[in-house]
Amino acid sequence: MTEQQPSLEEVKQQCIFCQIISGEVPSKRVFEDENFIAVLDINPASKGHMLVLTKEHYSVMPQIPENVIENLGKVAKALSRASLRAFQAQGTSIFIANGPTAGQRAQHFMMHIIPRIEDDGLGITLPEGQIQSEVQEKIQNAFLKGAEQVFGKSFEERKKENKEENSEVRVKEKNNEEEASLDDIASFLTGK
Ligand SMILES: [Zn+2]
Repeated sequence: MTEQQPSLEEVKQQCIFCQIISGEVPSKRVFEDENFIAVLDINPASKGHMLVLTKEHYSVMPQIPENVIENLGKVAKALSRASLRAFQAQGTSIFIANGPTAGQRAQHFMMHIIPRIEDDGLGITLPEGQIQSEVQEKIQNAFLKGAEQVFGKSFEERKKENKEENSEVRVKEKNNEEEASLDDIASFLTGK
């Protein structure tokens, strides 16, 4: 870190989202727990477009501690589900812009939850590229090499170690999915 770089405190003081979290800047809050706050986006892409913010100031996902980030999926699931219920939405688009190259404009980490209805014209679509299988294999290998540095073990080693743990997780997920489908999806499709 060089001397010209602002300290974390200075960054936080200038961060509009930290001010929203502290309450200095008003917002329409829709969720809060130990680690996250969700507020309605002031320039919503759709009705109910919300931002899930970490209470602490982090710029990008890799900075967020494991014990915080592991709860983000649960928060996203619950808020997505609540959006479907509240706005009669038929789906949600959920995304994180991680870094300026990815379109991140704020300095504070956030996840967008955007309720979707049919023909809403939001145009959140990705191009479908073409790729040869051999090229894809090279990309897979390159990724796995990088991942080995992150995880400290090869993919094969991790698969072996996680086998029992994973089957347990899969069972839990399946039960949860069935619950959700009965509770939510069917009723939204029939409009009840
Ligand atoms: Zn901030």
